[in-house]
Amino acid sequence: MEGVNIHSMCLEPKIAASRDKYLNMPPADRRTHYKCGKKYVVLEDLTDWPSYARQHRCGKKVETKWSADSLLNRKICIFEGDITTLEIDGIVNAANNRLLGGGGVDGAIHKAAGPQLLEECAALNGCATGDAKATGGYKLPAKYIIHTVGPIGENESKLHGCYLTCLETAKALRMRHIAFPCISTGVYGYPNKNAAHVALSTTREWLEKEENAKQVDRIIFCLFLPVDVKHYKELLNTYFPLE
Ligand code: ADP
Repeated sequence: MEGVNIHSMCLEPKIAASRDKYLNMPPADRRTHYKCGKKYVVLEDLTDWPSYARQHRCGKKVETKWSADSLLNRKICIFEGDITTLEIDGIVNAANNRLLGGGGVDGAIHKAAGPQLLEECAALNGCATGDAKATGGYKLPAKYIIHTVGPIGENESKLHGCYLTCLETAKALRMRHIAFPCISTGVYGYPNKNAAHVALSTTREWLEKEENAKQVDRIIFCLFLPVDVKHYKELLNTYFPLE
C-alpha cells in the first residue's frame, strides 16, 4: 500500500501546495469552489442502513453467520446517486492502472475535481490492481479521493484487496467517512451481484476489528444503477443483519 501518507509524499512543491490549498480551506470557502454548486449532499442527508431498510421495506431476515450489531449497522449507508456530490472526508475512485483519468466514475471525478487532480495523479506513478493511492479532492465536496484499481473481469481476491486497501487508507488518513462506487462493475465487467458480496463481506470483516470500527463513522455504498440498488437491498441483511 504505497502513497498512504499523503502529507509525506514526495510531490513537487507546486502540486503539494495546490492540493493543500483545498485541504486546508475553511468549509464555507471550499463550498464556493464546488463544481456541483449547491447540489452537494451533507452527511446528515445520508440514510443509514436501518432507516433505509425501514423506508424501503427490505430488511428481510435471512440465515447468516454474522450477528446483528446495531452500532455497525448505523455506520453503513446507502446513497443512490452521484458520488461527486458527497461532502464527506473521502470518496473512492474506480480508476485504471495509469491513474490518468478515464470514463465512468473516474471521468466524473476528474471533471468535478478539476485539472489539478490530474497533475497530482500523474506524480503517483500509477497504481497496481487491488491497491489504492490517495490524493486531495480539489474542487470536489469530498476532502480526499482514494484511487483504487479494480480487476478486469471477476477476480475475488483483487476486488477484496481494493476494498481493504481503501478502508486502510481511509483509516491511515483519519477519514471518518468513506464512499465506495461499485468498483469494477462498469467497463471492467465484474458481475454486479458477486461484486456486491465482496464489497459487503470485506467491509463487515474489517469492521469486526474494534480498532477499525472506532475509526470510522460512515461507510457509504454509492449506488448509481438500479441493478446495484436491487442487489444491495437483497444482500445487506446477510452481512449487516438488523435486530
Ligand atoms: P470500472 O472500470 O471499475 O468498471 P466504471 O466507472 O465503469 O468503473 O463503473 C464503476 C461503477 O461506477 C458502475 O456501477 C457505474 O455505474 C458507477 N458510476 C459511474 N458514474 C458514477 C458516479 N458519478 N457516481 C457514482 N457511481 C458512478
